[in-house]
Amino acid sequence: MLKLAKYQDGPEIFHSIQGEGKSTGQPFVFIRTSLCNLHCIWCDTDYTWNWRGTEYYHEKDDDPRYEKYVKEDHILEMETPEIVDLVRSFNCPNVIFTGGEPMLQQRPLMELAAVLKAQGITWMEVETNGTFLPKDGFDQFINQYNVSPKLSNSNNSEKLREKPAVLLHFAQSSKAHFKFVINAEQDLDEVATLQERYKIPAAKIYLMPEGRDAETLRSRQQWLIEVCKARGYNFTDRLHIHIYGNKRGI
Ligand code: SF4
Repeated sequence: MLKLAKYQDGPEIFHSIQGEGKSTGQPFVFIRTSLCNLHCIWCDTDYTWNWRGTEYYHEKDDDPRYEKYVKEDHILEMETPEIVDLVRSFNCPNVIFTGGEPMLQQRPLMELAAVLKAQGITWMEVETNGTFLPKDGFDQFINQYNVSPKLSNSNNSEKLREKPAVLLHFAQSSKAHFKFVINAEQDLDEVATLQERYKIPAAKIYLMPEGRDAETLRSRQQWLIEVCKARGYNFTDRLHIHIYGNKRGI
């Protein structure tokens, strides 16, 4: 059974284009798993972890109109055949496992990926915060890892967000690319430190402005592009925010 984010009484599984990173612009079926081991204060999928009673802070907690989520109301458990039927209905050969943190659920994802591959899905990607090593049985189905290690701007402790063995593994993996969410210049020093510490090739690094609206993204893109030019990194926007805004399920 896979624990999925629940949206409008169904699972958050939808057909859209990838808006971030190396595969930007390509069509994918997105499968959004619930639960995360981190708790970034600016997380825009907070409905996967910011449960009532949690000790963790999210910046939206300061908004009197915002309430932490009732866990049982935002998780849907589904068996592999039901998920496969839904994915196949979109007639798209590309799938992304996103979250939350999908690699918390590698066993059920492994089972799902095996069936999806047998049913004609030819490309599978994972979006991960880079704190879990892929198990062999899982890795065999994955074509690309979009690894997004969290910086101190996420407000997670270093011990929780930086797992050396995992970052070393992905730095050396031909399947992995790194995406860093940047909202201030000091974040760039942390990226450089991680790049040096784990020997991450510059060509594998994508810098993405933090922002949940087009205006914020635009205000940060110019200087970030200059940084990418100077350091040999890639720039990535958040295309889906420009097109759809910060809406779920599209
Ligand atoms: S790792 Fe991702 S899903 Fe988890 S809290 Fe951070 S931004 Fe949200």
